[in-house]
Amino acid sequence: MQIFENTEIAFRHRSDEELKKAGILFKFMEFPLLVKTAGIIAKMGIRLNLPVRWIVKPTIFNHFCGGESLEESRQLVDFLGKFKVRSVLDYAAENQESEQEIQSVINEIIRTMDFAATNPAVAFSVFKPSALAPVKVLARASSSELSANTPEIEKFRNNIKTLCQAAFERGIPVMIDAEESHYQDIVDKVANEMMALYNKDKAIVFNTVQMYRHDRLDFLRECLSESGQKKYHLGLKIVRGAYIDQERSRAIKMGYPSPVYPDKRSTDDAFNSAISLCIKNIDHTSIFAGTHNEESMLLMMDKMKEYGLKKNDPRIFASQLYGMSDHISFNMAHESYNVAKYLPYGPVRYLLPYLIRRVEENKSVTGQAGRELHFINLEIERRNRLRKSGLHSNIPN
Ligand SMILES: Cc1cc2nc3c(=O)[nH]c(=O)nc-3n(C[C@H](O)[C@H](O)[C@H](O)COP(=O)(O)OP(=O)(O)OC[C@H]3O[C@@H](n4cnc5c(N)ncnc54)[C@H](O)[C@@H]3O)c2cc1C
Repeated sequence: MQIFENTEIAFRHRSDEELKKAGILFKFMEFPLLVKTAGIIAKMGIRLNLPVRWIVKPTIFNHFCGGESLEESRQLVDFLGKFKVRSVLDYAAENQESEQEIQSVINEIIRTMDFAATNPAVAFSVFKPSALAPVKVLARASSSELSANTPEIEKFRNNIKTLCQAAFERGIPVMIDAEESHYQDIVDKVANEMMALYNKDKAIVFNTVQMYRHDRLDFLRECLSESGQKKYHLGLKIVRGAYIDQERSRAIKMGYPSPVYPDKRSTDDAFNSAISLCIKNIDHTSIFAGTHNEESMLLMMDKMKEYGLKKNDPRIFASQLYGMSDHISFNMAHESYNVAKYLPYGPVRYLLPYLIRRVEENKSVTGQAGRELHFINLEIERRNRLRKSGLHSNIPN
């Protein structure tokens, strides 16, 4: 793991004070009871429209998010760009219901594309399917209760098409996030239609595969075969999946087998197989590997070498979320790999569900907070040693 251990490179964008604040935040996440209580308060805050902004904004929001608006996030995009770390501006809207809300999300995402078209530090645009149609409609269409040609689904298809067309015209790739599996089928169907339309020369439209689902390797093979036959580039964001608790409890509640692997090792194997399979088919595939897992990133770099690909091959991106795994992002970028940080932005109340997912993911059970703390502490110690020896001119302030 040598490449990830250079904490000087990993944190040269962080001042001492920022590092200390990040350390306190991740320390807090190591206490499951505190995390659980904070999660309950935040969920109540969303439901009851409570004023949680004053506590959320200066702490967890500032650590994990770009800002409350595109304008507020610009500075950070430029700053990260100086370290060759590009951004994916992620307007944090999900679960939109009314036509008006949906239209305003579309307008905002096109604004991020306009911004990306003039700023090379932005690598991709992105949206969530649930921001473009009510989840109930997507779920009914995915369970075949609703035909894929009904007006509600036509509206959803047109919304996605508007965004894909805008992305195509600006030459900015667009990713479709994956959410819960019970409404993913219709998203996959429309995403593949869009790829066939817009990915003739290169991947502009990217769908997401969540490798904790035990049906995704087969799905991936089908997508590879279909894109090969129809002669378009397959664009794929590969992730493990962020909705494991919801997937499992829904399956129990509704009495069907869980769509998620029973153990972490199987998810890891599937994720790594997906990376290997896509790199093997890189002649007509582009991948965006969204992970904080060091082993998977090492495997990806090994596979690139094995197939004789350049480190900065434009078809391959590594990505981590802003505020997490800087030891991966900044060290890989320093080594000339293509790296982009997911940079969510939007009003604090829009971002609460995202922030709750981040806290859940970082709690001690998964060990992620421990990993983050380990590297933060190493860098704080390194800087203290430098100060003691009088060699502190390189420490950011
Ligand atoms: C840039 C980026 C974009 C993302 N976009 C999406 C997205 O569109 N949709 C989405 O759902 N997620 C998304 N995620 C989140 C992602 O799916 C993971 O939840 C998160 O990154 C943690 O997984 P990991 O690979 O980083 O690390 P790890 O810590 O190695 O893996 C943790 C993950 O392993 C899986 N896992 C843990 N325990 C078990 C178990 N007992 N059995 C089976 N599987 C288990 C879960 O998926 C868990 O999240 C994104 C992440 C990144 C970095």
